[in-house]
Amino acid sequence: MRTINKIILHCSATRVDQNYSFQQCRADHRSKGWSDIGYHYYITRDGLQHIGRPLWQSGAHCRGHNRDSIGICYEGGLDEHGRAADTRTEPQRDTLHRLLAALHMRFPQAVLLGHRDLSPDLDGDGRITPAEWAKQCPCFDVRTEYADLEPF
Ligand SMILES: [Zn+2]
Repeated sequence: MRTINKIILHCSATRVDQNYSFQQCRADHRSKGWSDIGYHYYITRDGLQHIGRPLWQSGAHCRGHNRDSIGICYEGGLDEHGRAADTRTEPQRDTLHRLLAALHMRFPQAVLLGHRDLSPDLDGDGRITPAEWAKQCPCFDVRTEYADLEPF
């Protein structure tokens, strides 16, 4: 098994009223020439948890951080106008929390982050502020929401 230092959350950056299935995401990633979907888990709007890459394998979801991380993506992240928004449904929230709690037990040293929290620190002050976000993904504040899952 790899060493897991980070668990990184993503959104699929698709509209809340748009269907973007696990199969479609996998097909899109494979069409880029990747061996498989880039994420380890994909959670559709109905709350179903789909298994992507096996955990022992590096993902392809966050440049520079794939080797020691687990990548999780939820379907959505844009409102009906295409603007970044926390579109998680109740079933998605429930499934995400259950999955993260389980991963936290298995990888207690891993820190939980949103994709945007790993944007370059442009002004070098040691904090990634909203002005520095390379993208909005996953469109909610992961560290606030899952403060109870801090590394042991
Ligand atoms: Zn992302």
